[in-house]
Amino acid sequence: MLDNVKVVLVGTSHSGNIGSAARAMKVMGLKQMVLVDPQCEVDAQAIALAAGASDIALNAQIVTTLEQAVDDCGLVVGTSARSRTLEWPMLDPRECGEKFAQEGLHHKVAIVFGRERTGLTNEELQKCHYHVAIPANPEYSSLNLAMAVQTLCYEIRVAYLNQQQAQFAPASEVEYPRHHQLEMFYSHLEKVLLETQFISADKPGQVMNKLRRLFSRARPEEQELNILRGILTAVEKNQRDNQ
Ligand code: SAH
Repeated sequence: MLDNVKVVLVGTSHSGNIGSAARAMKVMGLKQMVLVDPQCEVDAQAIALAAGASDIALNAQIVTTLEQAVDDCGLVVGTSARSRTLEWPMLDPRECGEKFAQEGLHHKVAIVFGRERTGLTNEELQKCHYHVAIPANPEYSSLNLAMAVQTLCYEIRVAYLNQQQAQFAPASEVEYPRHHQLEMFYSHLEKVLLETQFISADKPGQVMNKLRRLFSRARPEEQELNILRGILTAVEKNQRDNQ
């Protein structure tokens, strides 16, 4: 799935941003970077900021138009700090990550980032199936390009990890007690609390209700309930032996 994700940077003018975006991608397990009409070289500054991720920047595919970048993609999502200028299907970053995790299993998917100063043009945005905006401070909503890349790649990774976990998690083997077993436990508990005079029959108060609420919240498993029953039996035996 991660190998099917393309991170497309359109018209980037600061090479440092290409390096930082490469690093942002690699830490999240993504490696396909595409540069559309870059306004700078993948230079020493880019390599320096990429740190250990210079391979991503150096192997980036360079094309002249957005079409070339996304031609083979089944899903294209454009990013924009301005969500309201163009009426378009919107995703929030989490939904975007989930969509990528699902669709990336079947075909290539692209997330497209704009120019540092002017973002993506309306024409470019209209080539995307969806738009995604990071819900930042409305009075100051424009992130640095590489930081926007980081935020959205992180969401893709989280969705991917959730998907993996759901796929490989063993089916739960926990057995929960049946209702009648719980009722037997509560009767047993009440009996012991009376025998030990923790509560009295003529003034029982709210103790049993509160204990029921406690055990409902804890939702004991069958084995745990057996331990509790064992403890009650041990207390009863001890009472008898000491009489
Ligand atoms: N003035 C430009 C800002 C561009 S910031 C504009 O209004 O679009 C450079 C790129 O970073 C944007 O094109 C977008 O790809 C990304 N970006 C910055 N802030 C973002 C946000 N809040 N949500 C989504 N993408 C964002």
